[in-house]
Amino acid sequence: MGSTDMNSSSALNVAVVGGGLVGSLEAILLAKRGFNVELYEAREDIRTLEHVSGRSINLALSVRGRAALQLVGLEEQIVHDGIPMNARLIHSLSGKLSSQPYGKEGQFILSVDRRLLNETLLTEAEKYPNIQLHFSHKLLQANLDKGTLVFKKEDGSEMTVQPDLIIGCDGAYSAIRKQMIRLGRMSYSQEYIPHGYMELCIPPKEGKFATRINYLHIWPRDEFMMIALPNMDASFTCTLFMPFAQFDQIENEGETAGLDFFRKYFPDAIPLIGEKEIKETFLKNRGLPMVSIKCSHYNYKDRVLIMGDAAHAMVPFYGQGMNCGFEDCVVLEELLEKYNNDFAKVLPAFSEHRAPDAQAMCDLAMYNYVEMRSLVNSRWFLLKKKVDKFLNWLMPKKYIPLYTMVTFSRIRYHSVIQQWKRQDKFVEKALFYLMCVPAASIGVFMLSYFKPSTFSWLRK
Ligand SMILES: Cc1cc2nc3c(=O)[nH]c(=O)nc-3n(C[C@H](O)[C@H](O)[C@H](O)COP(=O)(O)OP(=O)(O)OC[C@H]3O[C@@H](n4cnc5c(N)ncnc54)[C@H](O)[C@@H]3O)c2cc1C
Repeated sequence: MGSTDMNSSSALNVAVVGGGLVGSLEAILLAKRGFNVELYEAREDIRTLEHVSGRSINLALSVRGRAALQLVGLEEQIVHDGIPMNARLIHSLSGKLSSQPYGKEGQFILSVDRRLLNETLLTEAEKYPNIQLHFSHKLLQANLDKGTLVFKKEDGSEMTVQPDLIIGCDGAYSAIRKQMIRLGRMSYSQEYIPHGYMELCIPPKEGKFATRINYLHIWPRDEFMMIALPNMDASFTCTLFMPFAQFDQIENEGETAGLDFFRKYFPDAIPLIGEKEIKETFLKNRGLPMVSIKCSHYNYKDRVLIMGDAAHAMVPFYGQGMNCGFEDCVVLEELLEKYNNDFAKVLPAFSEHRAPDAQAMCDLAMYNYVEMRSLVNSRWFLLKKKVDKFLNWLMPKKYIPLYTMVTFSRIRYHSVIQQWKRQDKFVEKALFYLMCVPAASIGVFMLSYFKPSTFSWLRK
């Protein structure tokens, strides 16, 4: 396949592997540009299923993700179907509540239903005559040099296709990425953190939300934490994050150990979730793993590209995995426009542009676990947050708090880290000097009072 241009895009066939959040969005964007898109998804059509197994029930959507949804005309609908969360609501061990706003007045992140979002994107994709959706098509083999893909269909038979471009959106355990690694053109690292997660539910109370609605609730307990996000059916999904060793200990200690653990660390959550639900959840479930994946490049020649979790799975603590994956789609769209759909230019440019950003986001996601489970309890951290807010008010364009840069802007992630480090250094120094001045004044006062001779040289 050689260079292509806008006019010939309609003749080109693109295979998108994976019809999750990123794959279904990318399929729509490619169809809008006139490509013939075949989307292959291993699962059945989730719109026909009663229960969909998988990861978190709800997700925090923010500015980067919204920018992508805007490109396909779905932003308004998804925002309408989501619940704004304006602040963190911290639950102390004694049950005291304190809120920490996310940004300025009117800024919020949205709690959206993962399944509803995926279904909305698939339904939108189906409206395009140049998109074909193939469910129950699991990628078995890929020959990236020949550009062939072999899928296993529902009836067990196999099907081989040879598209002009392959886009791998097949998630954290991507089969396409594995093939790219085998070809030796990619550097790759993965890290399973020693913490796992488990979901619990706060059901509605008499049809209404059982606790405050427009918040992301956090129970920070230093080594571990629980969070809760609201759902449209008036329930909350809680996610308990903690070391696997702790999950194992609870499992070994017997039937009531989960409830005892809650009595010790999250007493105010027990009446919300219910004793029975807590006991049963610990008995039925185990902690699930979380992986962080960094690799580069994201393309193989001008034939193959990976996006979303396939390229950069991250731990979920910044609520950016999907947002970052959606932003991949915006970046690809910008590059297709810039290079007139010439894959030979677009694909390497995507790798070059996106890899440093996604890797930076993986690092920020790791950092945010420490902030959420521990730093939010620290007075020093809270003081710095206040200084952050003040400096941002003073210099809104020059000084932007970290969370605002990540969540409410489209500043490139790697620049976010650079700017954050500069700002943090400045604040630490400023606070140090501010504290030094009163301390030094008190010292001088004491010396001059109790040991006036120290200052006799001044009188000479
Ligand atoms: C607990 C938790 C909470 C999270 N919270 C947030 C949040 O608040 N905000 C946020 O932005 N992100 C969040 N994330 C991250 C987010 O879930 C992912 O970043 C996002 O789902 C990535 O989308 P994706 O389409 O790249 O991959 P996926 O959603 O994993 O989709 C991949 C698709 O590919 C299909 N597939 C896989 N293999 C094959 C194959 N061989 N053949 C065909 N199809 C295949 C799968 O069936 C799936 O449908 C969270 C993640 C976790 C685990």
